[in-house]
Amino acid sequence: ERRYRSADERTVDGRTAGVVSGDATEEAARRRTFAVISHPDAGKSTLTEALALHAQAITSAGAVHGKAGRRGVSSDWMEMEQARGISVTSAVLQFAHREQVLNLLDTPGHADFSEDTYRVLAAVDCAVMLVDAAKGLEEQTRKLFDVCRHRGVPVITFINKWDRPGRDALELLDEIESEFRLKPTPVTWPVGIAGHMRGLVDVRDPERMLRYTRAPGGAKEALEETLGAGQAAAEHAGDWQQAGDELALLRETGAVHDPEAFLAGKSTPVFFGAALSNIGVRLLLDAVVDMAPAPGPRPLADGGGERPVEAPFSGLVFKVQANMDRSHRDRIAFVRVCSGVFERGMTVTRAATGKPFATKYAHSVFGQDRSSVETAYPGDVVGLVNAGALRVGDTLYAERKAVFPPMPTFAPEHFSVVRPVDIGRTKQFRRGIAQLDEEGVVQVLVSDRRGEQAPVLAAVGPMQFDVVRHRMENEFTAPVRLESLPYQTARATDLQGAELLNRSRLVHGEAMHRVRDGVWLGLFPSRWHISSFEREFPDSPLETLIAAH
Ligand code: GDP
Repeated sequence: ERRYRSADERTVDGRTAGVVSGDATEEAARRRTFAVISHPDAGKSTLTEALALHAQAITSAGAVHGKAGRRGVSSDWMEMEQARGISVTSAVLQFAHREQVLNLLDTPGHADFSEDTYRVLAAVDCAVMLVDAAKGLEEQTRKLFDVCRHRGVPVITFINKWDRPGRDALELLDEIESEFRLKPTPVTWPVGIAGHMRGLVDVRDPERMLRYTRAPGGAKEALEETLGAGQAAAEHAGDWQQAGDELALLRETGAVHDPEAFLAGKSTPVFFGAALSNIGVRLLLDAVVDMAPAPGPRPLADGGGERPVEAPFSGLVFKVQANMDRSHRDRIAFVRVCSGVFERGMTVTRAATGKPFATKYAHSVFGQDRSSVETAYPGDVVGLVNAGALRVGDTLYAERKAVFPPMPTFAPEHFSVVRPVDIGRTKQFRRGIAQLDEEGVVQVLVSDRRGEQAPVLAAVGPMQFDVVRHRMENEFTAPVRLESLPYQTARATDLQGAELLNRSRLVHGEAMHRVRDGVWLGLFPSRWHISSFEREFPDSPLETLIAAH
């Protein structure tokens, strides 16, 4: 089991990263803040481990998502995790590579896939899309990619598991291009088909081949050596020839990395490799440093212009995790620093209320391994403990006011009626549900037909309902009963659309409005029902919510 270095040992290449007070502009330029988006089993944990090994892990917040690299996080959540064998602990891993500081934010997947997964993407400047070479694009990859596109997050693609039989490289590129309308521009290209990987060509240096061979003694990490074109042609004739032909074809079609198109979300640089054997991982890491954008100015709400990185401190709360520690029952808010220098102990203002918030308890990590963070720069993530007052989407600032645009809500796919088990605890029940709604744990929907006594909870992932059950019982002492509804998808609509849907006898569905923002949602059992509604009432708008499928 791998342990990452703790915060007190964060010396990197002889200099300290993130500890010494530096200039916000200069430190921001050294930061790369990114997330890996993938479908479960594509190899995210494996890749995260490999990236952190290549680089020098500075700190890790919580656990590397996954089975092997898991660190102890003592919390009520942990019991749930153990019971289900999954991780609900989102992690922020900080490491250094070539004098740069990389912040890798975890996107929880599997059954714990929830709005949190999407919200992480509001806090990154770039995403690495991890694709299984045998499976191509998969459901969760699609959903996460939609969010990246919506938020304008540029995407680097890593095609993983090339050491195992899989699909044709050109065919995988076609899939990305036709499904995502995203031009793939390979930066590395495999020598040998999936399952017969001989090596990689870096297209910027096409006269050489990086050859990988199995390490002796059963070590997982493959050996890397560089071959000139002559030797590559002599020793890997067929495969080398084929790679050359394919590369020529790609050049002809203009599939060449273009920084502007990449940053505009129109193209994606593509890398091939095998995270398990550490093949292609260094090249990917270099790409994050060389291609991913450093933290830049962030747009403010309501046409308020931008907040440049050199402005006084500002940060965005992108995740609030409650009840991490049973003995404290505290709440930790994860803040992405957007501008200025964060120093522990500084008093900041919560934009939503104008009230001060003291940051005495700022941590770079959580769970048992919490350690105080002293200074953080744009792109870094700080965990604020005792953050009961903070909400997802909140802006914190110092000196000069900033308000970032509200966090979007995402298309729910799971719906349940919630009722108190004990009618005598209705007051606690209402308070608890309102609090969970405000925190963004679930979206709460109501309708006249169902009445206020039986609100409907809407969630992106079913795990969110477990969190509701657990917190309602333990925190609000109002145990609940959930009854799931046979809907699987939602669209935003207007009052007229809602009335038509509720009155229609032909279309199965139901309209309710969202308590938080009053938006009307039409709930449907399937996409087929949406189509029939649209056929029946062509004038009524149904708007796709983010990440709806
Ligand atoms: P996650 O669910 O995306 O975090 O996926 P994991 O990292 O847990 O990987 C899922 C499975 O794929 C594990 O059995 C890994 O050992 C395996 N795996 C990951 N990367 C590679 C790879 O490059 N090659 C091969 N052959 N297996 C891999």
